[in-house]
Amino acid sequence: MATVVFFHAHPDDEALATGGTMALMAEAGHRVILVVATRGEEGEPVEGVLETGEKLEDRRSSEVEKSAEILGVARIEFLGYRDSGMAESDTTSHPNCFWQATKEEAVNRLSNLLKSEEVDLIVVYDPNGGYGHPDHIQVHQVGTQWAQENSVRLRWVTLNRDAIRKVVEQAINEATGAGEELDEDLAKREERSSEESFGMAEKDITHAIDVKTALDRKRAAVAVHASQIAPDSFFVTLGEDQYKKAFGREWFVDPETPRTTEEPLRSDLLLN
Ligand SMILES: [Zn+2]
Repeated sequence: MATVVFFHAHPDDEALATGGTMALMAEAGHRVILVVATRGEEGEPVEGVLETGEKLEDRRSSEVEKSAEILGVARIEFLGYRDSGMAESDTTSHPNCFWQATKEEAVNRLSNLLKSEEVDLIVVYDPNGGYGHPDHIQVHQVGTQWAQENSVRLRWVTLNRDAIRKVVEQAINEATGAGEELDEDLAKREERSSEESFGMAEKDITHAIDVKTALDRKRAAVAVHASQIAPDSFFVTLGEDQYKKAFGREWFVDPETPRTTEEPLRSDLLLN
């Protein structure tokens, strides 16, 4: 059995990006460890969710703990940095934020957390962090450095740009075909997924993990992040078939062993 570390930036990333793969690996008997760089202080809370005086970071910490339990995580740790917020905001210059940490210092913290573990594989984001968030980019850089120093195999979780564009296009066609106006959610998704820096092209992706049998757990884990994901968000309301189509596979890259055009996508994250 393997020990696999999923290194994420904020509470909710684990469920949205890799929840299915984590659940399946835990179910198969692997030791799944979740390391979260920040407590998501800069997230935007869903209106009315926080109690008076309740801090967002406390709520999000308990949400990610619940999510980890649902996904079968054996151990969860926080790296102890502050959420850096979006690229253009002032919060990226806060002295305790993850973006301001030197790579060496952050790698040291990660090494200390993991020194008692025999890690076989670590999962970080792709070089652009999926969509350019500073903390996601930092996870990529710190995790990559740690993997190199410790000779641990590396995977990047990414978004399949081609597949997402197809799903968004279909949803738009359905909405406009029915004479509906595009809702804000969908318009935002279209805008984001059309950027060239969004995720990766399918030809550059090496692994597609079919997580359909773990979608119940992925969905439940996403839903406990109620401070971030409104009950009317498509993550919660999407019908089962649509959900399968949109989230039934999670996408990874083995940066050491690219896939040739003839080779099908690999279905086991541990296989090179
Ligand atoms: Zn994030």
